[in-house]
Amino acid sequence: MKVGIPREVKNHEYRVAITPAGVNEFTRHGHEVFVESGAGVGSSISDDEFAAAGAKILGGADEVWDAAELVLKVKEPVAEEYHRMREGQVLFTYLHLAASKECTDALVDRKVTGIAYETVELPDRSLPLLAPMSEVAGRLAPQVGAFYMMRTGGGRGVLPGGVSGVYAAKTVVIGAGVSGMNAAAIALGLQSEVLLLDKNVARLRQADAIYRGHLQTVASNAYEIERAVLDADLVIGAVLVPGAKAPKLISNELVSRMKPGSVLVDIAIDQGGCFEDSRPTTHADPVYKVHESIFYCVANMPGAVPNTSTHALTNVTLPYALELANHGWREALRRDPALALGLNTHAGQVVYGPVAEAHGMET
Ligand code: NAD
Repeated sequence: MKVGIPREVKNHEYRVAITPAGVNEFTRHGHEVFVESGAGVGSSISDDEFAAAGAKILGGADEVWDAAELVLKVKEPVAEEYHRMREGQVLFTYLHLAASKECTDALVDRKVTGIAYETVELPDRSLPLLAPMSEVAGRLAPQVGAFYMMRTGGGRGVLPGGVSGVYAAKTVVIGAGVSGMNAAAIALGLQSEVLLLDKNVARLRQADAIYRGHLQTVASNAYEIERAVLDADLVIGAVLVPGAKAPKLISNELVSRMKPGSVLVDIAIDQGGCFEDSRPTTHADPVYKVHESIFYCVANMPGAVPNTSTHALTNVTLPYALELANHGWREALRRDPALALGLNTHAGQVVYGPVAEAHGMET
């Protein structure tokens, strides 16, 4: 099959949908891979590395879309890409169609077979193509927290781990899922004191089994959150209630009583945020003050580390993409019910229920 990888054109998107290892894998299976020149630059992967792995480098996006039967991307197509999509072409990428009627209409009008990373779902209801981005955001959170806790970052001027004879900073992680567990791991690595809260005690049990007393687990409720937050130097919000907006767990009033210079990182901002005062920020202007505390609410945290994020994402997308190329999309979806749930649009129809519902369309 002919597989195309255009350069991402969405604002501030530096990831790319394939690595040289992926190109190598496709070519070993007898497929042809067309990569747009410069597609990997944002992730520090050169055209030469792609070419050495077996890709054909093409000069422009038009040529890549023209050549490809299967297009691999990171983000949903933006307006300047719509005219390049054609009937019967298979597009495998993050689509988030419920959030964009315009993009949904474009895929329907162009009769594209759109398979969305974010709706591929395993039988245990986990989302394998979203998890690596939660890992990245979770691991990044204590790092950005550490930066803003410095005096030069506007914070209290504390080191996460303190030094000998000096208290370590107190990090509170709310949510012990994928991002929360990764946040806790790095916060511990920085030698801060870590308190991990979750409503689900089974999750806390897992954390206890791993860390054996190196962190404190606490059942999450309003009383315990208040106690933890008032004592915290850094709070990381990492909760998710599937299919719903994030619950507001820290009120404005509670922030007013926190230590001056404390830092709050809201990873859950893409679901509305789990602090009352959270509003989405960008890498260009990531923080703002609420009372005497610093809020960091960047909605695409993995964008700060595109090299790591590209490798993390393609590690999990590649096996599915290969199945699509090896067997054709129909057979690949028939063989794998998890991948089948990724199908969002086909032959001018929205075929994924929640997207159709969001736009009042028929499936
Ligand atoms: P997850 O499902 O793995 O974990 C969420 C955890 O929150 C679960 O363990 C759940 O029990 C817990 N929880 C729910 N309500 C709670 C409460 N009231 N108190 C304490 N814990 C509670 O989810 P995840 O993959 O870690 O994702 C977390 C959030 O981060 C999601 O909204 C996700 O979209 C977002 N995310 C953001 C970025 C970013 O760049 N900002 C990147 C990746 C993921």
